[in-house]
Order: sequence, then C-alpha cells, then structure tokens
Amino acid sequence: MTGVTPAQLLRPEVLALSAYHVPEARGLVKLDAMENPYGWPPEWVADWLDALRHTPLNRYPDPGAADLKTRLRTAFALSADTGLLLGNGSDELIQLLILAVAGCGRPLLAPEPTFVMYRLIAAFTGMDYIGVPLRESDFSLDLDAMLAAIARHRPALIFLADPNNPTGNRFDPAAVRAIIEAAPGLVVVDEAYFPFTDHSVLPERAQFDSLLVLRTLSKMGLAGLRLGFLLGALRWREQFEKQRLPYNIHVLTQISAAFALDHVALLTDQARRIRADRERLAAALASLPGVTVFPSATNFLLLRVAAGDADCLFNSLHKAGVLIKNLHRSGESLRDCLRVTVGTPEENQAFLTALRAAL
Ligand SMILES: *Cc1c(COP(=O)(O)O)cnc(C)c1O
Repeated sequence: MTGVTPAQLLRPEVLALSAYHVPEARGLVKLDAMENPYGWPPEWVADWLDALRHTPLNRYPDPGAADLKTRLRTAFALSADTGLLLGNGSDELIQLLILAVAGCGRPLLAPEPTFVMYRLIAAFTGMDYIGVPLRESDFSLDLDAMLAAIARHRPALIFLADPNNPTGNRFDPAAVRAIIEAAPGLVVVDEAYFPFTDHSVLPERAQFDSLLVLRTLSKMGLAGLRLGFLLGALRWREQFEKQRLPYNIHVLTQISAAFALDHVALLTDQARRIRADRERLAAALASLPGVTVFPSATNFLLLRVAAGDADCLFNSLHKAGVLIKNLHRSGESLRDCLRVTVGTPEENQAFLTALRAAL
C-alpha cells in the first residue's frame, strides 16, 4: 500500500510526542489517579437515575449550561462578577487557554515538576515551554528563579498547580502573589486539589485582572463526568468563550453534575474523610524503614524510597495487586519517588501490607 505517511504530513512536534499513557487497572487496587474511592448512597443513585430518565438524548445540550452554572455558583459561592467557563475536564480548559495564546511569540512557563499536561499541550500546539525547577529539598517555589525567568522570557501564560501534582505540597501564598504581580501575561492557578486544602487564591481574584483560577470536579469524586471550570475576569471569559466548542459539556454531564452539586455536602464530607485518612496513611508510611513522606495538601502522598528501590517496589506492589504511580523516571528531582492516592481505609491497608512485604 502506498500513500501519504504521517511523517510527510504531520507537524514534527506531533511526531515527536509520546501519547499520555494510562496503565491498565482492571482487577487491581487502583491508587494511581487521584480518584475519590467512594460512591453515592443507594437513595441518591435512584434519584439521579430518575433525573437521567427525563434527559432527551436526541437533542443537543444547552450550549451555555445555564442550570449547571447556577449550581456551580451556589455550591462554590462565586460572586456575580466572576467569569465562569466550563470545560470537558480541566484538561480541555488548559488546552483552550494554551491555544488562545499559541503563536503570540511568547512562551508558557511553569515550575517543575508539575502537572504534565501543561508541557504536553504546549508541545503539540508548537508553544515554547519554560520549566523552572522547584527547590529540590521540599519542592517549594524558587521565587528568585521564577522572577528571573519571568523577566527574561516574558511568558504569555504561567501555570501554577497549587497544591502541586505530583509533589502534593502547597506553595507559599506570598510567593504566588509575587509571581502574579510580576507576570506580564496571564497566571493560571490550577486548584484541582481544592477539596483537600483550606487555602484558595480565589478571594484574591478580583484584585488581579490577569489571575485565572482553574478547578475541576474530578478529584472530589466525579472524575468520570469530565467537568472543569475556569474562574476569572469577565473580559477574559468573553474572549475564551469564542474558542469553546458549543456543545463541549454533554447532557449527561450537565444533568449529573447539577444533581451532584445539589448534594455537594456529601462530596465535601468524603473529601474530609480522605484528608483524615491521608494523615493516618502518612504516619504509617513515615514509620517504614527508608521511606520519606512529603507533606500533602491533596488526596495523594509523594514518597521517596531508598536509592534504586522505586522500580522494584512498584513492580512488587503491582504483583500484589496494588497500582500506584512510579515517578522515578520522570526527572532527576523525582528520583526514587512513588505517588499513591489515598483510597478507602481497606485499600490503604492493602497498600501498606503489600509495601511492608516488598520492603
Ligand atoms: C488531575 C489534574 C487535572 C485534570 O483534571 P480534569 O478535570 O480531570 O481534566 C488538572 N490539574 C491538575 C494539577 C491535576 O492534578
């Protein structure tokens, strides 16, 4: 068979990419992807199915998702002057933001290590990406290095995942503020882990026109629905709205998320339980020989194990039926590091038992 080859047609940056890899998890205790392990009480499920029964699949969804937006504004106490943009997961909003500035000749900047989608999407949109290392000792922001890189590269967009993934820590609010003040472009504070920390930059939103806050319902228990939302000044929202595909939030998501937000106290309760279990799991891990646990404001823990042991421990856990994330090969500062999502007490126990055996 002849014909055009991918190499003849596709942009080099696409050809050079490796796809985002999601490992097979069937039959395993799944502690690799920061999912909430809890489901809904049966009476909820019945009411939710009832709501779905009356949802017409032959019609396009409400393009503006007005009802869902009202529930989001209520559930998260958003002021009327806060612009709200919805995405099919916050990943889609990250892509939308990067596409909006790609080609402007200025780069995207983020501290590293951080959420990999920033770099990945920058790569396939042909945008330059500047990674500024976090401090190796505690993964805190190196403010001097950040400010120097901002002055030198004049980034169009800065992404700060706060709390950060995969390191789990919160950044110093004064450093975040200094970065927002110094930025010549937009600063996106990605608060994917807001359910697991008491801090948010949202109260400062009105002070900074260039500050955008990104959130998602994924980590608080609705990862399957794919709903992210961006909060920012109305005049930015208005511009980004043009780029949003008209029906990006489908009817099942609109109905289901609106339903869940009416019962948001249950999700908040689950998050509280996960936070308490996180502390118990951290304490148990810290008592294991050779294991260092980093402080976490998220629903996962970052661990460092004895030098050279990470691959072997990851494989032993996998054999014992527990799937976590091996970060050992994701860069020098994450050498010997593993990341584990906080699950149910039973799942956490299964992980601890398997880890003890492997050590
Ligand atoms: C998980 C995660 C996301 C992606 O969230 P979705 O809404 O599921 O696309 C975004 N940012 C960070 C920092 C994350 O950890």
